[in-house]
Amino acid sequence: MSPGTAEFDLIERIRRRAATRGDVVLGIGDDAAVLAVPRDRQLVVAMDTLNAGVHFPDGTAPADLGWKSLAVNLSDLAAMGAAPAWCTLSLSLPSADAGWIDAFLDGFLALADAHGVALVGGDTTRGPLSVCVTAHGLVAPGAALRRAGARVGDDVWVTGTLGDAAGALAQWRAGGARDAALRERLDRPMPRVAFGVGLVGLAHACIDVSDGLLADLGHVLAASGVGAEVQLDALPSSTALARAFDAPARRALQAAGGDDYELCFTAPPGARDAIDALASATHVPATRIGGIVAGEGVRAVDGDGAAWAPPARGYQHFVG
Ligand code: ADP
Ligand code: MG
Repeated sequence: MSPGTAEFDLIERIRRRAATRGDVVLGIGDDAAVLAVPRDRQLVVAMDTLNAGVHFPDGTAPADLGWKSLAVNLSDLAAMGAAPAWCTLSLSLPSADAGWIDAFLDGFLALADAHGVALVGGDTTRGPLSVCVTAHGLVAPGAALRRAGARVGDDVWVTGTLGDAAGALAQWRAGGARDAALRERLDRPMPRVAFGVGLVGLAHACIDVSDGLLADLGHVLAASGVGAEVQLDALPSSTALARAFDAPARRALQAAGGDDYELCFTAPPGARDAIDALASATHVPATRIGGIVAGEGVRAVDGDGAAWAPPARGYQHFVG
């Protein structure tokens, strides 16, 4: 759109604070950005939108929203094994609030700077609160990690711990006790950037867990034409989650809760040592939670080998 004076002021606040990189030929301020893509790399592009009331609770701090809006996109690039380079930011705001923008940028740019990502452009409009980010990353030709590629006999792995963000959301909805460590996982997810880049050449298939482990693993299985058996007792839990929820509730949060932004990937057993070494080098734990089998869909089993179905599948827009 053609912004008014207030919007120009906001864009100028953004431009002043956005870091640049050597491969940004032209950043914020022209009609479009110009970026120098290395000759020996493929460009990987992801986009995710966060809408008030749908993707984050009303009253979420602007700095947390800034962080998360970029984090979910860096998580998508990580799931492709791409090294993030650039991003763009589309903001729909109810009013031109400079204080809100400054706080938003505190979170957004903290994560961008931590990963050397340059904010190179965007759009600023008036409307209901909504944040849309695109992230651009680089990967060696043909090396991107896809959902298709899981093979029978692969291990199924997951990074970090599962269920924390969904646990925070459940506590927030219940209106009772709230655990700060869980809330941190909801508001400030850590995209597994270095881990994802390190998985290139090791993993056969990869996805980031945004809608719940079983739902997202299901996408990998459908794309790969295989099935999986998952040991529920093996699902990694934080101590905060174990403290706040009993075993059945915890299991549902870990298996079917959303917003984890961990990586779920498959790899041949011969890659176990290399994956353990990657986990040590990146300080991100990785846990084997099952295996790829012939067939279709996920069979989630408890300690006795009995099949288990989650109370509800992962969060789906426009459904339920
Ligand atoms: P145009 O009307 O040509 O699209 P705009 O006035 O919308 O131009 O944007 C001017 C410049 O500011 C462009 O370089 C654009 O990418 C950048 N920009 C606008 N909004 C944002 C934003 N929210 N974050 C980063 N850059 C922005
Ligand atoms: Mg514009």
